[in-house]
Amino acid sequence: MLAGAGAALLTAAVDGCSIAGLRTGGRAVPAPTLNLAPLRASTDRITQITVCTRPFRAQGPRLDVEQIGQKIIVHNYGHGGSGWSLSWGSSDIAVRKAMTAGAQEIAVIGCGALGLTSGILAQRAGARVTIYAKDLPPNVRSSLASGLWTPDSRICLEESATPEFKQLWAGMARKSFQTYQSLLGLPGNPVEFIDNYYVSDEPDSMRRRETPSDPRPKFASLQRELIADLIPGSEDFAPGSHSLGRHYLQHHTLMMFNISAYARLLMADFVSTGGRIEIAEFHTPADFAKLREKVLINATGYGSRALFGDESIVPVRGQLARMIPQPDVNYGLYYQGVSFVPRRDGMVFQVVGDSDYYGYGDDTTVPDRAEAEHAVNTIAGLYGAA
Ligand SMILES: Cc1cc2nc3c(=O)[nH]c(=O)nc-3n(C[C@H](O)[C@H](O)[C@H](O)COP(=O)(O)OP(=O)(O)OC[C@H]3O[C@@H](n4cnc5c(N)ncnc54)[C@H](O)[C@@H]3O)c2cc1C
Repeated sequence: MLAGAGAALLTAAVDGCSIAGLRTGGRAVPAPTLNLAPLRASTDRITQITVCTRPFRAQGPRLDVEQIGQKIIVHNYGHGGSGWSLSWGSSDIAVRKAMTAGAQEIAVIGCGALGLTSGILAQRAGARVTIYAKDLPPNVRSSLASGLWTPDSRICLEESATPEFKQLWAGMARKSFQTYQSLLGLPGNPVEFIDNYYVSDEPDSMRRRETPSDPRPKFASLQRELIADLIPGSEDFAPGSHSLGRHYLQHHTLMMFNISAYARLLMADFVSTGGRIEIAEFHTPADFAKLREKVLINATGYGSRALFGDESIVPVRGQLARMIPQPDVNYGLYYQGVSFVPRRDGMVFQVVGDSDYYGYGDDTTVPDRAEAEHAVNTIAGLYGAA
């Protein structure tokens, strides 16, 4: 219904005669089709500002196996801005490798998105699993993510996206996507689909683009080429056909993770199936010698940079301004380099810049209040009140 009515209004708008609520040429012009509940975006409603570094590797995540002393280490880290999105698929690969080593007991190092999914999948494969980590949710980097299914966000550079990598990535993305379907409709909505709108001032600038003159290598963009069948179609709304004034909107449907509920669900599932969680910090790989398990899955994320001396991990800083939840707002927005995600565990506003290089190489974690306020005010401006 929305599509049909929206399309009709769009045609009228292109004709230049659609002004909501006015009569033109004797015809009554219908009210806007798309009524978005007003968002109470104001800086005094910010409850928290968090900063975290994405673990980006130009060549993509590390999933190889190495032996250190008596231990077999299966790596599962370096997922850039796609760690939640790819977690089930990536951890499935890591667990298969770990099980090939023939162990009944597996140690997972790390309790973020990759550690929790590795632990659960290793249990499902029949292993007894202990997660060892220095921090648990909500005090891990994974808890500071935006919470959208973005499986190719800063996953590797375009020049590293070989045919083999693309095949690996597509397998991870599909496995994750399918697993997430089994997590929909649960109490607390750990996972749900939302409407998202790219908002622009001009009709032809709906999408975020790499700056054409940027000499730096491009980040890989894989979704449209490799998993287009998983991406619902988009729909355009011209001024007059929606409630956000003189802007152009493009609608997309996205999967969203309410990370507080989702991480708790993963922890509870893991523990209720007999999983153990121990607080432990490892300073060098030699520290693994003290563990009783012979096979380890390394899911330490950005921590692998220090623990394994892996300087191929580049920090990409990202800051979220969290705001008091507003349950009647269940749509997301992207406007002028700012993203808004309607998380039930706190609305998320984030400056994402005009390219994936925003925050690249920056490992500073001090919150920037001015950036947070800019994010909130940019979105607030869409409602006519900053
Ligand atoms: C601002 C921002 C927004 C993001 N948005 C999204 C998004 O919308 N969708 C998406 O899919 N991804 C997103 N990401 C990316 C995603 O958050 C990461 O890819 C993901 O969190 C990585 O998870 P991880 O399990 O590898 O690492 P972490 O969450 O960092 O977990 C690492 C674990 O290892 C432990 N550990 C580390 N070092 C040691 C050590 N030496 N000894 C013992 N334990 C150790 C830690 O305590 C922790 O338990 C975002 C990232 C940022 C920064």
